[in-house]
Amino acid sequence: MQSNFLSDEQATWLETVNRFMDSEVTVEYVRECDMHRNYPYEAYEKIARQGWLGLLFKEADGGAGGNIFDYTLMAEGLGKFGFDFAAAILVPTFTAMNIAKFGTAEQKAKYIRPFIDGKIRFSVSISELGAGSDAASTRTRARRDENGDWIVTGQKLWCSGAAATDVVIAMLVRTDPDDKHGGLSILLIPNDTPGLVINKLPTLSRHATGTTEIFLDEVKVPGDALLGKEGEGWKIIVEHLELERCSVAGAYTGNAQTAVSKAVQYAHEREQFGRPIWDFQVLRHMLADCQTQVDAARLLVYRAAAMLAAGLPASREVSMAKLYGSETLKHCALTGMQVLGGHANLPEADMERYLRESVQSTIGGGTSQIQKTIIARSMRL
Ligand SMILES: Cc1cc2nc3c(=O)[nH]c(=O)nc-3n(C[C@H](O)[C@H](O)[C@H](O)COP(=O)(O)OP(=O)(O)OC[C@H]3O[C@@H](n4cnc5c(N)ncnc54)[C@H](O)[C@@H]3O)c2cc1C
Repeated sequence: MQSNFLSDEQATWLETVNRFMDSEVTVEYVRECDMHRNYPYEAYEKIARQGWLGLLFKEADGGAGGNIFDYTLMAEGLGKFGFDFAAAILVPTFTAMNIAKFGTAEQKAKYIRPFIDGKIRFSVSISELGAGSDAASTRTRARRDENGDWIVTGQKLWCSGAAATDVVIAMLVRTDPDDKHGGLSILLIPNDTPGLVINKLPTLSRHATGTTEIFLDEVKVPGDALLGKEGEGWKIIVEHLELERCSVAGAYTGNAQTAVSKAVQYAHEREQFGRPIWDFQVLRHMLADCQTQVDAARLLVYRAAAMLAAGLPASREVSMAKLYGSETLKHCALTGMQVLGGHANLPEADMERYLRESVQSTIGGGTSQIQKTIIARSMRL
């Protein structure tokens, strides 16, 4: 179905990722990680061995020289068994790309190859207790000491993946209290830095990757941990968010398709009143609505990804894809719960996991309301 809109090469790439997920990762593995709140280390390593973490990097840097469209197709495949799993793989690549663009030669040498090889991963720490949608309200303070090192004090919230092993956190910090957007900077802080306290939170979604709260009390970070220039933090985050929103929208679409396909399969298998439940027109229409929404979401994602890959400004199109992809996932997972009846409550049905993760999809990476604000602004509203 997707291949109608993709070149042969793109369709083959998506099929390759889907096949890899079926045979090398499996839905059972993703489910187990969720049930036991285990980070998916084994699958992460397998993906690193494929070279897929380097998809967006230039060949000269050890990458595959792919573009954002290729990457978004990968996200669609990685998301098929749930968004949390896709997030574990995608989130580290956003920061790695920021380092490729804004990092010093030393930072690139230190981080990019080990990242592509799966030896280190990245988390992104933007949010705080008082800085959610209004992310530029960041208060965590970083100041230079007399040796040029950074002294960081504050509290970050919702930093996904930060409690895993070998993680470097890209942390948004305030370096100038008098300039809301221009007073922000990014520091690259390894998660084993002395004084850093990281607690995994018992959240509804994101069981496997895990999301965390981080406390910093006069934590010392080397002076060369600054990514880009001092005061460039907001610019780096904004760039990061476009790649993030486009690719997560791809992953939502992949997961929404699985939710619909699973519900269709169940509707064939389950009989009540002497006939398969798909035979009730009300269910057929519910499922037809869902498939229509998934196709529409996919087209919005492909449009946004194609524009980004062509280097065109696409913040409106990216927000539309993120908004519609996440709301579609939520709607399809909720409809799936209804079609699967009581069975949907069991972990092995996977639908309750898709639903839990869908609830986060309309919040993380910028809420649906914030996406609508961006779209409205592009309409001069
Ligand atoms: C599981 C999980 C993982 C996460 N992972 C990360 C991560 O790795 N790194 C990271 O930095 N952050 C992460 N986040 C944080 C996420 O980005 C924020 O939750 C999100 O930006 C929203 O902020 P908030 O939760 O403070 O909600 P708020 O901003 O307080 O919003 C509350 C409500 O008000 C609405 N609202 C707020 N402002 C406006 C406005 N201007 N117009 C209209 N409506 C508005 C929102 O849409 C929402 O409905 C994660 C969150 C979760 C739940």
